[in-house]
Amino acid sequence: MESVTNQEISPVCFGMHTSKTRFYSDPQRGLMTQSLIKPVGRMFYLQRCGATLDAAFAGAFSHPACHTAPARVFGSDIFLHVSGGWHDAGDYGRYVVPACKAVADLLLAFRAAPEAFGDDWDILESGNGVADVLDEVRFELEWLIKMQRDDGGVYHKVTCAYFPDITANPQDETAELYIFPVSTAATGDFSAVMAMAAPLYESIDRTFAKKCLRASVNAYEFLKHTKPLPFHNPSGVITGEYGDESDADERYFAACALYQATGQSYYLADAAALYQGGRSSDFGWADMGGYGNAVLYFGPRACEDDFLAGRIRADLLSTAERICELTEKSPLGISITEFLWGSNMYLLNHTMTLLLANDAQENERYLSAARAHLAYILGNNPLGVNFITGAAESSPRQPHHRPSAAAGRAMPGMLVGGPNEGLHDLAAKTLLAGKPASERYIDSVESYSTNETAIYWNSVLLYVLARMSKLDA
Ligand SMILES: [Zn+2]
Repeated sequence: MESVTNQEISPVCFGMHTSKTRFYSDPQRGLMTQSLIKPVGRMFYLQRCGATLDAAFAGAFSHPACHTAPARVFGSDIFLHVSGGWHDAGDYGRYVVPACKAVADLLLAFRAAPEAFGDDWDILESGNGVADVLDEVRFELEWLIKMQRDDGGVYHKVTCAYFPDITANPQDETAELYIFPVSTAATGDFSAVMAMAAPLYESIDRTFAKKCLRASVNAYEFLKHTKPLPFHNPSGVITGEYGDESDADERYFAACALYQATGQSYYLADAAALYQGGRSSDFGWADMGGYGNAVLYFGPRACEDDFLAGRIRADLLSTAERICELTEKSPLGISITEFLWGSNMYLLNHTMTLLLANDAQENERYLSAARAHLAYILGNNPLGVNFITGAAESSPRQPHHRPSAAAGRAMPGMLVGGPNEGLHDLAAKTLLAGKPASERYIDSVESYSTNETAIYWNSVLLYVLARMSKLDA
């Protein structure tokens, strides 16, 4: 993922699509939602790193295995093999923290709506009898396991020091790869998603499930005797930082997930102790407390701490009420009141909260707001843009995404960041200043602050699509 200060850009390529898209009527809604699940899910396959993507599956986005050279542990002469995983966004970095948000979204989606996920995504593993979303997540989990040190700590990221040219294919990025230091946010997230995964893979591959659980426990024990280790990019490194000063929410998430996976009261006691500091109700890569709540409250194992379960439920419902109030007051029919970088993700994170709240206590008001949010993403917004590539005539055609720029066409099924009032890149500064916040979006390859894509934006979109396809079927 690009950041505010890391790119010199020129103001070219400004193909804006402003045709208004009328939102579809009710009978069509479920079908359209369902039809998007496959392309949005396939995006993860097309983002695979370290593997050959055959033209039979990847078409214009096929490539030989990329980023397979051993990576240098930053500041040392140690080299490790850490190939695999998904490219994060419009760049080719692989970052543990946002990767874990993506995995958490996909596993929660599968758990909540397994019937939405087929074995027919036209990926390498299609037809193997396992839902393709689980095959895809396993590809990421196998990489994550390589990012764990023997002592349980998990490296924060593996990237080059800088970004390649915007038209570079994956295999063209051959600069030295670095593995950056262990962070406790990465270690907590890792422990949590490995614990989430273990029960889901138990019936598919028991050996793999055990490996996930062992890795989770090792990471957790590392956290137990380690003070917060925040990550900051070393001088001269400009790839995404994904820095997080607070790891309380990641520790809480891990405790919740390990309680669900093992039933051990040790983890539940930790979750209860960590709740106050780590309970953030959001689903952002830096705010993972919402995942802890979701895993603990809605997991197959009943939470034996009634007081904790009650607090989670009350917090969830009050957050959903606030989201509904904002949605109902908004002339745009959405709950976000400011348009930050990746505004589409914030809106979909709110949608996820609404859907979980509806699981806790059915309420048509929650569903109505959730439908309005998805309608906004699909074109019912001031720009009339469907923010998913390839989904409609109005969809972005020039995302800030290297494989798309190299192929000369947008990889389908990708959610772009959307309006960003901050004018964080030159294209936005040049062409969007003076526009209302909700219209500060441009379909330009140069606009990394409004038109980039990311695995952890697609993942929450897939969660919402899978849940809504079931509700509107
Ligand atoms: Zn790669």
